[in-house]
Amino acid sequence: MTDFTYAVDAEGVATITWDVPGKSMNVMSLAGFAELDGMIDRALADAAVKGVVLTSGKTDFAGGMDLNVIARMKEEGGAEPAKAVFEGVMMMHAVLRKIERAGMDPKTLKGGKPIAAALPGTALGIGLELPLACHRIFAAENPKARIGLPEIMVGIFPGAGGTTRLVRKMGAMMAAPLLLEGKLSDPKGAKAAGVVDEVVPADELLARAKEWVLAAKEADLVKPWDQKGYKMPGGTPYHPAGFMTFVGASAMVHSKTMGVYPAAKALLSAVYEGAMVPFDTALKIEARWFTNVLMNPSSTAMIRSLFINKEALEKGALRPALPEQSVRKLGVIGAGMMGAGIAHVSASAGIQVVLIDAAQEAADRGKAHSEALLDKGIQRRKVTAEKKAEVLARITATTDYAALAGCDLIVEAVFEDPKVKAEVTARVEAAVGPDCIFATNTSTLPISGLAKASQRPEQFIGIHFFSPVDKMMLVEIIRGKGTGDRAVAKALDFVRQIRKTPIVVNDARFFYANRCIIPYINEGIRMVAEGVEPVLVENAAKLVGMPLGPLQLVDETSIDLGVKIAKATRAAMGDAYPDGAVDPVLFAMADQGRLGKKANAGFYTYDAAGKRQGLWDGLEGLWPVADAQPELTEVQHRLLFVQGLEAVRALEEGVLMDIREGDVGAILGWGFAPWSGGPFSWLDMIGAARAVELCDGLAARHGGRFAAPKLLREMADKGESFYSRFAPQSRAA
Ligand code: NAD
Repeated sequence: MTDFTYAVDAEGVATITWDVPGKSMNVMSLAGFAELDGMIDRALADAAVKGVVLTSGKTDFAGGMDLNVIARMKEEGGAEPAKAVFEGVMMMHAVLRKIERAGMDPKTLKGGKPIAAALPGTALGIGLELPLACHRIFAAENPKARIGLPEIMVGIFPGAGGTTRLVRKMGAMMAAPLLLEGKLSDPKGAKAAGVVDEVVPADELLARAKEWVLAAKEADLVKPWDQKGYKMPGGTPYHPAGFMTFVGASAMVHSKTMGVYPAAKALLSAVYEGAMVPFDTALKIEARWFTNVLMNPSSTAMIRSLFINKEALEKGALRPALPEQSVRKLGVIGAGMMGAGIAHVSASAGIQVVLIDAAQEAADRGKAHSEALLDKGIQRRKVTAEKKAEVLARITATTDYAALAGCDLIVEAVFEDPKVKAEVTARVEAAVGPDCIFATNTSTLPISGLAKASQRPEQFIGIHFFSPVDKMMLVEIIRGKGTGDRAVAKALDFVRQIRKTPIVVNDARFFYANRCIIPYINEGIRMVAEGVEPVLVENAAKLVGMPLGPLQLVDETSIDLGVKIAKATRAAMGDAYPDGAVDPVLFAMADQGRLGKKANAGFYTYDAAGKRQGLWDGLEGLWPVADAQPELTEVQHRLLFVQGLEAVRALEEGVLMDIREGDVGAILGWGFAPWSGGPFSWLDMIGAARAVELCDGLAARHGGRFAAPKLLREMADKGESFYSRFAPQSRAA
């Protein structure tokens, strides 16, 4: 079994075809690299070969590097992991540089053989770095294809020459969105940006690439940076224009990343330092920074959570072993904010949807939500008019429960009221067949309680979406006491169909995500009540990598929702209610009509258009700022530990069944400092012993909610980490 095949045609053009067996998308492995290297050697050595076309046997060119390999490289380095990574990366550079030089004499730049890349579809990561080393890139007209370097999204940066080549090809300014934001484009966009050279009809792809190879002149093979007198577009750091770019880029990156993402900083360093030296030295610098990033615990944790484990969960790592349960016809009950969103993402994924509300007008409004989203997609050229028509045709908006006949899954998203939900459950069960699975999208009501209204509790489950449904990638699947495996498998298959990431948790108050996020918001509010500068609270959160400060977050989710949850929780918990100190602040804000963003007034002020301005200056009148302010790290520890410890308790209590879900769910569900890889990865980075020490201090100063859970103490005693104890298979990242 080989990843590449080699064939030479009658005209002397060698075609190297990348086609990894058993995979729908090519990914690069070290063995693949070695194979490719051998074939390039063969083509260069064979006098009968005039040139090479590098292409793919699949619909797409390649999805990137197999990040499991990158993760393993380090471990295989034994006592010298950095050396192993650096050498591995330099080996890749050597292969790509060989392609670029193609056998030419480095002095005269003569004697090389043309090598063209022919991309039938998507080309990401190494799947673009490899073409960038070729002499000409042809992409097929394929609007579905995505071309770019998304490495930064998982905490690394293009480390196989992509960074150095792209910057030298288009200049630092033009390369910035591609490298720093991982911006992807379709082939036309990639051509307009200067990333690919030609976009050609799909059925002419190979012929056009071959034609170019046969006609190419020696000068066509020499990259600008290998020519005498090369000047980097836009200028190097000591050029007046380049100077402005680099100063601006540094500030921009810092403002976006708050300095917590090592990959962005390392990338910028590689570009800056690389711009001032010859190409081959720049590659070496790139490799050193790349190694530096791979050795950083943040990047390794990000790769583990945001790539390896996220993908494992999406592929159903924890799915009960049952036959395929894909959804064919979905019933959504309640066409409000959530129901409409669920109908939209499902219909967009090709599922027939019956969208029911109490009144026809409400059901139609739900469908109109989908139309509005599709129109936005058309405006952004992400959706075609045909796609819009297809999606809308799949949604039947009605009040008639008889239309549910034939549904194999129901998602209920009516008011958060057990009585209403019970009524709906009974009506639905009377209308659907006996095999249909019933899911509730409740955010606060225990699933096992709601299942009492069902005749078939083993077919009753929670499928908890986050708002806005079309944007939020996490779906929390909640297993009630009586929920059976088929319901779990069905929910997982559904989530896969709509291309989101699932976690499966057991039933408990607030499940997992809300259980952790509510204490985060409350900790922020507590600090305001204590006299901590609100701006310190917000900035501390952002500087530790939370996308929103707790006060901004409660403004977004609405303060009256907070009040409602506080009241319901107090009623349910009685004396054990832990958040008495929070309520006076929340209730006072609500009493003043400061309900958050939707009311254009909350902890923040908003302009008439709803744009957030500064923190509300009336806060100080209500909760005077204390003379002595805490250290930044104290505030940050409070904000992170209050979430992290809740995650540990969820694990301890068996609500969370797998730490990988805990980490992935935390980042996708509520944006837990993504640089950390999630709460368990974060605690592992600190180490259990140090975490317990910090908790002891926080508990002494701020109360029992910071008391280290028994599990954490035990791990500290035994010198364990979460990943060594609970997921040894994914420890190696
Ligand atoms: P919403 O008020 O926007 O929508 C509820 C819809 O249900 C309304 O259109 C209403 O007319 C309809 N409805 C009420 N009773 C009905 C009945 N008997 N039959 C048919 N339709 C009926 O509420 P929402 O924000 O979409 O929330 C819906 C559910 O999703 C709730 O259980 C909520 O807790 C949960 N949820 C909400 C969020 C969120 O951020 N809003 C997030 C996750 C889960």
